Formats: sequence, C-alpha cells, structure tokens
Amino acid sequence: SKRVAVLTSGGDAPGMNACIRAIVIACEHLGYALIGYQHGYNGLINQEYESLSLNATHNLIQQGGTILHSARCEAFKSVQGAKDAARNLNTLGIDTLIVIGGDGSFRGAEHLSQYWPGQILGIPGTIDNDVAGCDATVGYYTAIDTAVSSIDKVRDTADAFERIFLVEVMGRHAGFLALNAALASAADYVIVPELFESEDAELKSIAAQIEARRQLKGPVSFIVVVAENVWPGGLSTLAERLSSQMQSEVRPVTLGHVQRGGSPVSQDRLLATKLGTHAVALVETDKNKVMVGEVNHKPVEVPLKATWENNKPLDDCSLSTMRITMNNRY
Ligand code: ATP
Repeated sequence: SKRVAVLTSGGDAPGMNACIRAIVIACEHLGYALIGYQHGYNGLINQEYESLSLNATHNLIQQGGTILHSARCEAFKSVQGAKDAARNLNTLGIDTLIVIGGDGSFRGAEHLSQYWPGQILGIPGTIDNDVAGCDATVGYYTAIDTAVSSIDKVRDTADAFERIFLVEVMGRHAGFLALNAALASAADYVIVPELFESEDAELKSIAAQIEARRQLKGPVSFIVVVAENVWPGGLSTLAERLSSQMQSEVRPVTLGHVQRGGSPVSQDRLLATKLGTHAVALVETDKNKVMVGEVNHKPVEVPLKATWENNKPLDDCSLSTMRITMNNRY
C-alpha cells in the first residue's frame, strides 16, 4: 500500500493544521501510511519526521500554526540538498510527497522533482494569496479577518482623536490582503503594489482626499491601509511625508505577525479540508507536480510551474468596488 509524506513550508498560515488533519483522515480512509516531516524542507534533509495517525487529529482543526512546524531552508536550494532529501524519501519508501506552502515552496518541490521520481502534490497555504491558479490560499481568509478586526480598533482611536493613521498589512509583494482588508474595514484609502505608481502621486491623492473631507466636516480621522514592501523606505517614511504635508500628526501602525496566527475561520477550514482530501485522492493517479486548488468552488489541478510563472492579478470585482467605495484615485 502507498506511503505518503506531508510537510508545511514557508510562511505559516492558519488552516495548515486543518489541512494536515484532512490528509491524515483521508490516508487512514484509503489505507495509506502517512508520515509528517518537520520544519519544512529541513525535515526532509535531516530526517526529522513522525508517523501521523488519527490520534494526531484530535482538536486539531481549530488550531493556528502547524504541528509540523514550518521553516525556510537555504540548504534545500542546492543540488546536494535536494539529493539528500531524495535519498531520505527513498529510504522511507515514500511514494507521494504533499507540500503545503506558498509559491516558493512549490519552486522547492519542482527542484526536488529533478532528483526524486516520486509523486509531488502541492496545496496552497499562505496568508498572502499570491499563488496563481487558485482563487484563495489556505490562511488568506483568516488573515483578512485578523487585519479587519485590528483596523476596526485603530478606527476607534483614530475617530476619538480625529487622527490620520497608516496601517501596514502583510502580503509579501501582493496586495490581496491589503485591498480586501481595506474594503472590509471601510478604510479611506489603500496602497497596493499592483497599483502603485509613484510616491508623489499617492501623497497628492491622499492629501486631496483628506482636504476635501476637512472642508466638508472639519477635523476628521483618516485611515490608509498600506501593503508591506510597497512604500520606499517603509511606513515611517510615508508617515513623515504625509505629516509634513498635512500639518498634522500621522500615526503608523504595523500589524505584523499577528496576521499569521489565530484559529482559522470556517472558510479556511473548509478549503484546507477539501484540498487535503482532494490531494490524497490523487495519490493513485498519474497526476504529478501539480498543486490542487479551488477555482469557482471547484477543485482544480495546476502544474506547479504555473503557480509562480503566471501572474495572479487582483480580482476585478474587488478593484471596481474599491474605486467606488474608497474614493481612490485609481
Ligand atoms: P510564503 O510566501 O507564505 O512565505 P513560500 O512557500 O513562498 O511561503 P519561501 O520562503 O519563498 O516561502 O520558500 C520556502 C522554501 O522553499 C525555501 O526556504 C526553500 O527551502 C524552498 N525554495 C524556495 N525557492 C526555491 C528554489 N528556487 N529552489 C529550491 N528551493 C526553493
């Protein structure tokens, strides 16, 4: 009978545990042996693994983080690293490796496939949603929720003092999290890498909107959601420039790693459970080097390469909603 292995790699995301749980149960159901490698690709190289059975799944679906731990692994990028991993997989007689992670982790999986002939399946797990070929990645919905509840709190204090706040939201080099958190928290403005043109253009536009608001209502609060890595020099640079332009205090808030934690929301649990189950259902097929994802609520299998070679654009509906509800300049 088949021997399956699973690991979580790259940035951790809420719902990774729900995905592991589904894989354990599906493997049990089909009579496959399952092992979990720890610390991402490090576990493959260093032979750190545990056998996973139904005892591991109790109370797991609601837990944030990942029981297998996640990590980045420089050594794995080398030929020797991948060869070591391949040898270890062969020693354990693994037929199928399931990698839960982001596009970097899928590049790693593709790299491994050059040295290991077994089946490799990917499941998209990252709060950034920057994996092409699927509508949403596991962890993304929870991260939106976390950012939204933080921005709601910032708004309370912003309103009380009629202050301008900048809130930095994660997303690596993609604006999915920032845009959708901004929409759902009714922020006043959002800056995302996909639409960013220049510092001056953004500043001009923010200033114009605050001015217009002040003319109408006097002192106002104003919340700008800023995707990480988009503003040259970072959030404090933007705060200083906006502050001198508006002649008022501007408070920067970086939400940071809280966005990676927490119990997964139901959408992430469902997605993780469906994708984990679907991946295990492919074990005895000839599907290889594919990511399983969902598009329009249907399962899809996407070649790993397509997950990073194709650009994943922000969805048109969120963008048109932004143009109407956030008075943006775009
Ligand atoms: P997230 O975007 O949420 O951080 P990710 O999966 O994109 O997740 P990365 O840090 O980019 O995270 O990649 C995770 C690991 O995958 C790396 O530490 C490395 O071990 C492996 N990896 C990434 N890119 C490559 C590559 N080009 N070749 C071989 N291995 C790679």
